[in-house]
Amino acid sequence: MDFIRFKKSIPQNVNIIAVSKTKPVEKIKQIYDLGHKDFGENKVQELIKKHEELPDDINWHLIGKLQRNKVKYIAPFIHLIHSVDSEKLLSQINKEGDKNNRIINVLLQIKISNDPLKTGFDFSELEKIISSDKFLEYKFVKVLGFMGMGSIDQSKNEEEFRKISNYFNKTSKIYDLKYLSLGMSNDYKLAIKYNSNMIRIGSLIFGFRN
Ligand SMILES: *Cc1c(COP(=O)(O)O)cnc(C)c1O
Repeated sequence: MDFIRFKKSIPQNVNIIAVSKTKPVEKIKQIYDLGHKDFGENKVQELIKKHEELPDDINWHLIGKLQRNKVKYIAPFIHLIHSVDSEKLLSQINKEGDKNNRIINVLLQIKISNDPLKTGFDFSELEKIISSDKFLEYKFVKVLGFMGMGSIDQSKNEEEFRKISNYFNKTSKIYDLKYLSLGMSNDYKLAIKYNSNMIRIGSLIFGFRN
C-alpha cells in the first residue's frame, strides 16, 4: 500500500504506530525512509533485535504481552509500553526505570472484549488503581493513557469502543492522560470515530502475516 497516502487519510492528531511484527528490518527501513518513526512489536526478543539493527531515532512501542522478567531488556530505550495489564508489572517497570534513571511511558491495557486471549484491567480495577496513593509512588513510570483491543466479532466493536472512549474522556483531564491507543487495520476508522488518537496498524501497511 501507499503509506504516504494512508498517512494523509488519517486526521493529524492521530498517531500511527506501524506494527512491524514478523516483518524483516528491510521492510521497516522502507517505511522509516519515508519519514515515519513509530514502530510497534509484540515480542520482546524480536523488538530488541530490530532495535539493534535499525536507526537509533526510531520510537519503539511494545504492544504485546510483557512478562515481568523481560522488562529489563527494553527498559533502557522503550518509547511506550501499551500493554501494562497488572499492578505487579507496573511496579516492575518502575523498578527498571529507577535502575536506568529514566521515566518509562506506559498505557494501561483495558479489557474491553471477552475474547479469551485478550488481557487487561477491568474498568473497576482500573479506577481503584489510578486513584490510589500507591500510584503516585511510581516515580519512574508515567501513565499516558489507555490501550484497548476490540473483539474478533466486529459486531461488538462499536459498543466496546464507546465504553473505553467514554472512560478515557471522563478520566483524561483528572489524570492528565494523552493517548487512547485503539484500532488496528480492520477497525481503525471506527476507533477514530470514538476518539482514538493512536492506531496500531500492521497488515494494512506491511501486508498480511503468515
Ligand atoms: C498485531 C497487532 C496489531 C496490528 O494488527 P493488524 O490487524 O495487522 O493491523 C495491533 N495491535 C496489537 C496488540 C497487535 O498484536
